[in-house]
Amino acid sequence: MDKTRSAELEQIAAEIRDLKASPLYEYRVNQGYSAVVGEGDPYARIMFIGEAPGKKEAQSGRPFVGAAGRILDELLDSVDLQREEVYITNVVKDRPPENRDPNAQELQIYGPFLDRQIEIIQPELIATLGRFATDFVLERFDHEAGGKKIGDLHGKVLEAQAPYGDITIIPFYHPAAALYVPERKETLKDDFQVLKRYL
Ligand code: URA
Repeated sequence: MDKTRSAELEQIAAEIRDLKASPLYEYRVNQGYSAVVGEGDPYARIMFIGEAPGKKEAQSGRPFVGAAGRILDELLDSVDLQREEVYITNVVKDRPPENRDPNAQELQIYGPFLDRQIEIIQPELIATLGRFATDFVLERFDHEAGGKKIGDLHGKVLEAQAPYGDITIIPFYHPAAALYVPERKETLKDDFQVLKRYL
């Protein structure tokens, strides 16, 4: 493993763990939670980006390990991808209380850490999980599809420019959607098939 990339990612992790300026820091400490920075291969060609950690994630310090994570594992498995081959993270690295949507202040404080993770890992493909991550990433890459509904964007292959070169962005429904709307799981499975082109 490249020492520099892992060291740079660890530097980000250390900064987030010590992010006292975050409005979510005190809640994290009071609840005995951990920051969830992300995990996977620093050389991953595919990066998955969700919204923010849920309770199980904040308890374990790992992304997508709760009910939504089990769906994500199933989806990865369906295209023969292992978690270790990809990088999985969220836009916001601490759990917002009551699983509410992250707010503008939280986005402002955590967004630059995601930017740095992308710059270090330089993924060829970003798979956004859910409306929130999709909106955030498309806006960050100044993509014309920014602001469109996830219902129109899911499974679509979008091309964009990263500072280090071309990048593909593919929005997906959030895996948690499959817990509430059973048809979403089939849609997610169908949409995930497009990832095979990039393996
Ligand atoms: N939902 C997310 O968006 N991210 C996680 O890590 C877990 C659930």
